[in-house]
Amino acid sequence: MGIEYVVSACLAGLECNYEGKCKTSERVARLVKTGKAIPICPEQLGGLPTPRKFIEIVGGSGEDVLDGKARVIARDYFEVTPQFIKGAQESLKLAKLVNAKKAILKSRSPSCGCGKIYDGNFNGGLKEGNGVTAALFLREGIEVETEN
Ligand code: SF4
Repeated sequence: MGIEYVVSACLAGLECNYEGKCKTSERVARLVKTGKAIPICPEQLGGLPTPRKFIEIVGGSGEDVLDGKARVIARDYFEVTPQFIKGAQESLKLAKLVNAKKAILKSRSPSCGCGKIYDGNFNGGLKEGNGVTAALFLREGIEVETEN
């Protein structure tokens, strides 16, 4: 059995989140260690620095961002929508290259969140919806599982 999953790199122990930290999941780290998963960080793949400002989707969900109906904004109100779309596309490219049909992605993130994401008010609130990369994966038939 080859690579089955793409996983959020921060869950695998890579220090790629907005604070330059990781959120290691033992299960995800084990999948990478045993060659069943490869880590991706869509925000880094889209060209954003680490650490970076806190970022949320404003005015919709990841699906809306892909459709040009919502924007992705960093805390100081500069727009990072193009980087998020690029990061989602590059992540999808990698998933297709290794033929991974499943993903385990970090909860609540504007890129990786699945089911619930931060609501765009920058106060820790949540809304229904998927992050931009999770939304693109689901559109392309990749199964997405969320992990804290
Ligand atoms: Fe990168 Fe996704 Fe983790 Fe954010 S949640 S640091 S985009 S892998």
